Amino acid sequence: MKRLTELLDSNREWAEKINQEDPAFFETLAQQQAPEYLWIGCSDSRVPANEIVGMLPGELFVHRNVSNLVVHTDMNCLAVIQYAVEVLKVKHIMVVGHYGCGGVAAAIETEPHGLIDNWLRHIRKVYQKHRELLSAWDNSHQQLDRLCELNVIEQACNVCETTVVQQAWANGQDLKVHGWIYGLSDGLINDLEFNAANAESVEEEYKLAINKVEKLRELVQNSEKTQNARSLWDKVRSIFN
Ligand SMILES: [Zn+2]
Repeated sequence: MKRLTELLDSNREWAEKINQEDPAFFETLAQQQAPEYLWIGCSDSRVPANEIVGMLPGELFVHRNVSNLVVHTDMNCLAVIQYAVEVLKVKHIMVVGHYGCGGVAAAIETEPHGLIDNWLRHIRKVYQKHRELLSAWDNSHQQLDRLCELNVIEQACNVCETTVVQQAWANGQDLKVHGWIYGLSDGLINDLEFNAANAESVEEEYKLAINKVEKLRELVQNSEKTQNARSLWDKVRSIFN
């Protein structure tokens, strides 16, 4: 059988490079991990968690699945959240979506995709919930951008509603939940301004974030030229903050 020589060679080079920069790096890391962040992102190969935020191994606890969903019956995701919150005591959980997400796009298509449609059904629910907001966008590309944003906000809200996060907040644990979206075409993260620090703030944070997505429509209508999601969000931020 053929081995994946290229990848294995590349791994040797990578480890060697890190060893040269910091000879104690792997030894120290092997003793324990103490990341402050849990990243819940999409499995998309173009959204590599550590690289995007310039973090080294040990700095980011990561869970990825198709379209960064947080489903309350998904034991895999819940177990990750529990370990991150109760054992690692991370201070931040960020749900990170990305524009142009294939899973989000597939969720609103009419043709069947097989088994994955059961998973994408959760995004379809987000679409149905915000149908009115989304129908204000006649451009399908922009509608997809908005659905990707709304999906992040809904999933961040789902994180807040897990028993693990609720319990941590009830115990007074320092833990914040954030919603971010990444741009494949420019490599930049857009803060969707959902930042919940306790159980009481979730509803307000949710409403504010959704309001901002609604406000984007007005900005597009008032502008002569089409703008990308980031410049729209920069404007919305200047209005609200
Ligand atoms: Zn994706």
